[in-house]
Amino acid sequence: MRILISNDDGINAPGLAILEEIAAELSDDIWVIAPAEEQSGAGHSLSITKPVQIRQYGKRRYSVTGTPTDSVMLGIGKIMGGLKPDLLLSGVNRGANLGDDITYSGTVAAAMEGTLAGIKSIALSQVYSGDPLYDDMPFQAATHWGAKAIRPLLEHDFEPRSLMNINFPALRADDIKGIKITKQGFHDYGRVAITEGKDPRGTPYYWFGLNAIEHTSGHDSDLEAIEDGYVSVTPLTLDLTHQEALRKMRTLYD
Ligand code: MN
Repeated sequence: MRILISNDDGINAPGLAILEEIAAELSDDIWVIAPAEEQSGAGHSLSITKPVQIRQYGKRRYSVTGTPTDSVMLGIGKIMGGLKPDLLLSGVNRGANLGDDITYSGTVAAAMEGTLAGIKSIALSQVYSGDPLYDDMPFQAATHWGAKAIRPLLEHDFEPRSLMNINFPALRADDIKGIKITKQGFHDYGRVAITEGKDPRGTPYYWFGLNAIEHTSGHDSDLEAIEDGYVSVTPLTLDLTHQEALRKMRTLYD
């Protein structure tokens, strides 16, 4: 099994090294092709107004001076030279990719790009709690539960144009209750925090941050599974069509 690994935190991110360890439990044919710099929040953006460069660090280890999508596209289309990966793993992201945040995520977007290329693709993210008790053991949950969460997915046929989004809770590995299949949740738009300041020359700037997540009700969403202490596995689709709306709108312009 040939595995392509990417992320949005960049080639030097600790979570990428964790994902390499996880992948090494599954195969010894591993290619690492990740953005040269952090690209968190890049979503599924593709660099089309400027060129990108490839840097090589070793056998099967490269960075791309662009987005996660650039990395996967160049990885498959150029760097790997026709050796199509059997599996794409993206992450392990430093921080959650849950609910509505998924559309901003470069981590999930790298997996979307793999899916577009016809490769079984999985995004992995480690939730941080803000609680120093847990956050001083970064990626412990992902390290211990990563291969456990991925292995059954290797035997499972993904639906066409679908990918998996895995999140690990901010818990000690022993405190995790298990793995749950979930649906994508949603949260209040008020989660986005805009910080204002002035740069050294007096020009105002604005900086986007995130407030705490407001949870959606029910226990079948990704947000709630994490809150309940489970690893969350959500099947996502590239097809953004709203099926119920499609049915209701069928005669709208008759
Ligand atoms: Mn990130």
